[in-house]
Amino acid sequence: MKVHNMMEIVVSDVLKRYKDQLHMPCTCGHCMNDVLAMTLNNLQPKYIVKESNSAYVRAMHEADRQGATTILTKVAWAARIVAENPRCDQMKNPSE
Ligand SMILES: [Zn+2]
Repeated sequence: MKVHNMMEIVVSDVLKRYKDQLHMPCTCGHCMNDVLAMTLNNLQPKYIVKESNSAYVRAMHEADRQGATTILTKVAWAARIVAENPRCDQMKNPSE
């Protein structure tokens, strides 16, 4: 049986919702995954057994305002680091 880190669901939701406000120079899959991974490494993982519980997890987290603020702060922090050090090919290729 597999376990899932529910923070993965929560953080990717936050990332999708605030993508435009993070002012990322590049929002390709690679850069967004970098932000996701970096945020998750800085959050306490919360494991659930069934992925089907994700609706419940989302609802629970939306009710937790302080938790949501903490996650958004970490997402913004990770986004800034990735924006300053983009590692994807798109940002590496000099255009001039
Ligand atoms: Zn990119």
